[in-house]
Parts: sequence; C-alpha cells; structure tokens
Amino acid sequence: MSTTPARYAVAPIAPEVLAELRVRDDAGRVPSRVQDHDGGSPLRCCLRASEPGETLLLASYAPLRRWAAGRGIDPGAYDEVGPVFAHPKACAGPAHTRYPDDLRGTPRVFRAYGVTGRIVGGVAVGPHDDPEPAIEGLLADPDIAVVHARAVVYGCFTFAVERARC
Ligand SMILES: [Zn+2]
Repeated sequence: MSTTPARYAVAPIAPEVLAELRVRDDAGRVPSRVQDHDGGSPLRCCLRASEPGETLLLASYAPLRRWAAGRGIDPGAYDEVGPVFAHPKACAGPAHTRYPDDLRGTPRVFRAYGVTGRIVGGVAVGPHDDPEPAIEGLLADPDIAVVHARAVVYGCFTFAVERARC
C-alpha cells in the first residue's frame, strides 16, 4: 500500500482550548455532562466516535472565533457558537492528522474560510463519497485558509482542516 503524504492536517479542538471549555464554554456557561447511551457521537478531542454508555462533556464552542483570535482577525458576523461533545477529562487526542477513521461514511459539509475569516466556499459530501478529494480541492485554492467540517443534518462543527506544514 502506498503512503502518499496528506496535503492537509485534520485538527481536533486543541487541548488547551478544551481545558478552558471544560470550565466555561464559549457561550459563557458551565458545560454539562451527558450519558451517551447509544454511542457514536463524534468526540472533538480525539476525533473518534463515543462508545455506548460513555459520559461526555457537552459544551458550546466558537470555532471561527477561536481560529481568528490566534491571528488577530475579527470574524464579524461569521462567528458562530454551537454544541460539541468531548471527553470530560483530557484524553490522548487523535491517533493521526489524516481524515478521522470513525467519521467516514457520514454526510459532511466542508465550509471554507479565507484569511479574513469570511466564508469563501464549501462543498458537501454524501455517506458514500470519499471526503478527501473534496477537502484537497478546497485547499488547492490559495484564497482558502481553513476548512471547517460540520455535520449535515445537525450542523455541528466537527473538526478543522488546514494545509499540512511539511
Ligand atoms: Zn477524547
């Protein structure tokens, strides 16, 4: 099997941000804990699906606000806050920076943002589509700085993708 290097890196919510969200989330609330009876919820800390019966943290997160703050950008009206699941305590994080194995086979929308934090494009993939060409196609555009993956039906932010630095 060939090992073509990925041209992008999938990023979970950063551990230091998760540590903040566990105390007070981006909506200003103390996050709640929920019992995930069925499992299968996408965890933004390690980018895997939860196990049935796991206790999860449910917090509000502002992905573009956080991304923009690190770059001195004001995302303006594009700032959005929404729910994310994560482990209630720090975990080991994702096993790799490629597309998350547990999140394949589900419809996903990839929203593309430019360097000013404004939406500049996007593409949706179905459950039987390979998501990687869609992401690579977006990041081939030099005007696109970051791609946010979101759930299609619920609309929740799932992970960010940026160009690989190597
Ligand atoms: Zn985790």
